[in-house]
Amino acid sequence: MNTDTKKILLPTSTAGSLPKPAWLAEPETLWSPWKLQDESLIEGKLDALCVSLQEQQLAGIDIVSDGEQTRQHFVTTFIEHLNGVDFEKRQTVRIRDRYDASVPTVVGPVSRQKSVFVDDAKFLRQQTKQPIKWALPGPMTMIDTLYDDHYKSREKLAWEFAKILNQEAKELEAAGVDIIQFDEPAFNVFFDEVNEWGVATLERAIEGLKCETAVHICYGYGIKANTDWKKTLGSEWRQYEEAFPRLQQSNIDIISLECHNSHVPMDLLALIRGKKVMVGAIDVATDTIETPEEVANTLRNALQFVDADKLYPCTNCGMAPLSRSVARAKLKALSTGADIVRRELLNSDKSV
Ligand SMILES: [Zn+2]
Repeated sequence: MNTDTKKILLPTSTAGSLPKPAWLAEPETLWSPWKLQDESLIEGKLDALCVSLQEQQLAGIDIVSDGEQTRQHFVTTFIEHLNGVDFEKRQTVRIRDRYDASVPTVVGPVSRQKSVFVDDAKFLRQQTKQPIKWALPGPMTMIDTLYDDHYKSREKLAWEFAKILNQEAKELEAAGVDIIQFDEPAFNVFFDEVNEWGVATLERAIEGLKCETAVHICYGYGIKANTDWKKTLGSEWRQYEEAFPRLQQSNIDIISLECHNSHVPMDLLALIRGKKVMVGAIDVATDTIETPEEVANTLRNALQFVDADKLYPCTNCGMAPLSRSVARAKLKALSTGADIVRRELLNSDKSV
């Protein structure tokens, strides 16, 4: 690790994606198609990665990422690089029990022909000495984004993906990534499976890693299917209660959560006591910019249940669908708000 994150109190980061420049992909659109092709696309993606990194740095973000500039979709871009999945053969399935989507089909044994994101991670590593975080899809969220015509078992396919993710994660670690994050929004939906094999497959994905590991569990991007679903969840969102006890017992170091503007009762964080927690203090489903004081309030609330040295201020989810100016302002609010609480802690000496 080039910079010791342990020395930074309340290190800020983002859940993952950031808006892409308009010359690379249609702005304010999720899973937007590329505007460039071939060599210029490869170059354009890396240029966008540099821009995204610079925006994080200008906003004062401590743990930086690639802003997911080189991928179109947080799950399918990874799957596109695997054997055994036919992208021509599509089926309509229900994603996370919430919305229908046309997805590719698993037609044979799945395997990774070569690394997927490792060159991009090496490139990011060359650009900064700050700690870097890299996001991968989690096994359960991957199987939920496919039609399986081969294994015919969600669990079996999840174990196969866990093995593949472990290969990728080991290469990302060797490339100098400090935190590898697995995105598992499916953990908020399939509670029995989470406890039966979901967390176990995630532990398989991190087996043998020496770098830090995180799992990101959210209520999704600010798209209509998700915001409609949220309206049905009532005044208290207790979904985290189902996975937290098992996660608390797991080898995962960090748990990344949606908090600000959600109806998640903050005291659920007591169930993962001892884990580092990336607390979502920025709502990605609205263009309204949080004030630094609002961010500080969310963090102060979380501090009742998370030790100060384990609290990582973060965004609720990715910011890909937002405009660049809104995302920029939200990043700034996050770092300014974290700074308010950091000063309070240092002044009161609670942090030691
Ligand atoms: Zn998310």
